[in-house]
Amino acid sequence: MPFELPSLPYKPASLEPYIDGITMQLHHAKHHQTYTDKLNQAIEGTELTQLPIEAILKGVSQYSPAVRNNGGGYYNHSLFWPMLTPNGGGEPTREELLAGIQSQFGSFEQLKEELSKAAINRFGSGWAWLCVNTKEELFVCSTPNQDNPIMDVVHEEAKGTPILGLDVWEHAYYLKYQNRRAEYIEAFWNVINWEEVYKLFKATQH
Ligand code: MN
Repeated sequence: MPFELPSLPYKPASLEPYIDGITMQLHHAKHHQTYTDKLNQAIEGTELTQLPIEAILKGVSQYSPAVRNNGGGYYNHSLFWPMLTPNGGGEPTREELLAGIQSQFGSFEQLKEELSKAAINRFGSGWAWLCVNTKEELFVCSTPNQDNPIMDVVHEEAKGTPILGLDVWEHAYYLKYQNRRAEYIEAFWNVINWEEVYKLFKATQH
């Protein structure tokens, strides 16, 4: 099997009280595992088993809905876990990233407001993202279902390289927050791994 479930880089309960341990456990070991298994099934016996996931998603319009949905689910969650940490939150720790945010959004608070709004307004299931475009500018977008800004199928204004993502599927928050998505989004800001976001940001700067 070409794709494997990456391990969670911290204990499932370690993001409490912001994200509960049972949700993290199920989200990783069940939901992410299922996306991984179904992606492997969808590409079995094809040349896609030879490609990195990014290459598959960049040309995903050519493949089946199963590749789009499960490839997206596999990739999005693989990005998401390291973007969180028990020792996270606050403002970005790296001056270069903070300065980029301030120059694009006006202030860190403005970014927080814009990304939170994108997450709240995502109808149904999907993700909110902080991305970098081809001009190396930061922007906020949202994608439905398990789509991702690197996919060729997303709208032009959502295309870019994601450096921070927020899963707003109900499976990410329902046990603790039920219908209160806004409270989950507020809690998310306490567990962001800014070092990981910086690493992804840095890779987009030439
Ligand atoms: Mn999820």
